[in-house]
Amino acid sequence: MPIALSPTVEFESAVPSTNRAFVLHGVEDVRFEERPVPSELGSLEVIVAPKKTGLCGSDAHYLSHGSIGDYVLTSPMILGHESAGIVVKVGSAVTSLAPGDRVAMEPGESCRMCYSCKDGHYNRCPSMAFAATPPFDGTLAGFYKLPADMCYPLSHAVSLEEGALIEPLAVGVMAVTTIGQMPLGANVVVFGAGPVGLLTMAAAKALGARHVLAVDIQEPRLEFAKQYAASDYFVPTRTVEGETRLAYSRRQADEIKARFNYAERGPQGVDLIIDCTGAEICVQTALYLLKHGGTYVQVGMGTDSLTIPISTVLNKELTVKGSFRYGPGIYTQAIDLVSRGLIDLKPLITHRYAFVDAAKAFAANRAGKGEDGRALIKAVIDGPLA
Ligand SMILES: [Zn+2]
Ligand SMILES: [Zn+2]
Repeated sequence: MPIALSPTVEFESAVPSTNRAFVLHGVEDVRFEERPVPSELGSLEVIVAPKKTGLCGSDAHYLSHGSIGDYVLTSPMILGHESAGIVVKVGSAVTSLAPGDRVAMEPGESCRMCYSCKDGHYNRCPSMAFAATPPFDGTLAGFYKLPADMCYPLSHAVSLEEGALIEPLAVGVMAVTTIGQMPLGANVVVFGAGPVGLLTMAAAKALGARHVLAVDIQEPRLEFAKQYAASDYFVPTRTVEGETRLAYSRRQADEIKARFNYAERGPQGVDLIIDCTGAEICVQTALYLLKHGGTYVQVGMGTDSLTIPISTVLNKELTVKGSFRYGPGIYTQAIDLVSRGLIDLKPLITHRYAFVDAAKAFAANRAGKGEDGRALIKAVIDGPLA
């Protein structure tokens, strides 16, 4: 039963009694299920009907492996966390939202009480309940309950499917701003031209980078990156026989410096590198490539441990930081960049699926292309009530 969206409709009575969900039971085991409609609503909570959900690498990873690092699936879990939807019900004390509002949903609820929360770093909260991170259910369902302040109204300039992509964009904005502290006119290098890498490039460009270089091993992805947000790109060259990984990485860094005239110091050097791969060679190359005093930010999750040239970190006084999801003000900033036309999310949405075809979206994501044969960057899945 579709819900009516006209603002004249009485939403309280329009909340359907069914809540269809896309549920992960185990490795390669997903099922459609009926879940209870959220009933108890805190005074500052709202219920949103997710309308568009972007499929993320982490959702796909839970499907194929049942875990990501320390997060292990132990009971059935609804997938999905990149969502936008329509508010259907608001708690008694909510004044910022009303039924019918179109919102981007920030999918993590922190405790607000711990040291990290009170210190302005709620993304570090040890009690974070994050959508589709075990054991917490995600957003690929008819309804999702969250605190009112985690819902961000979208202007008419921003569609619901763009609203869904605010989540991965927020990851990029966080890395560039709060964590990377990108200076104006910076030379920025981004390793990895998947969705998060592309959005990180877009954030850097929109926020005033002078030059954004994309590095990836897949040239078609780099071609897209250059059309989209990168100033230029670099494809790593082949390894030479007998070359150690560190020697290879140093050689890649030297080639990039020569090709793009990056200096070791000053305004012609590389100010900020954001790694969206987690691959050892990328991390090593980045540290060799940065200018003296430059900043390295880790966004991608790869192997748990790897070898880095620590003396380079010391000698060049590099700043090396991790960036985890997003913190205060980032969603607002991401939405603002899109609303003002500084970032265009539409070219990233290459494939769209009805809710009943959610499994097809995952299959296409895994294949890297849809049934149409076109390369897939981001698949967006309708909510069951779309
Ligand atoms: Zn994600
Ligand atoms: Zn907390």
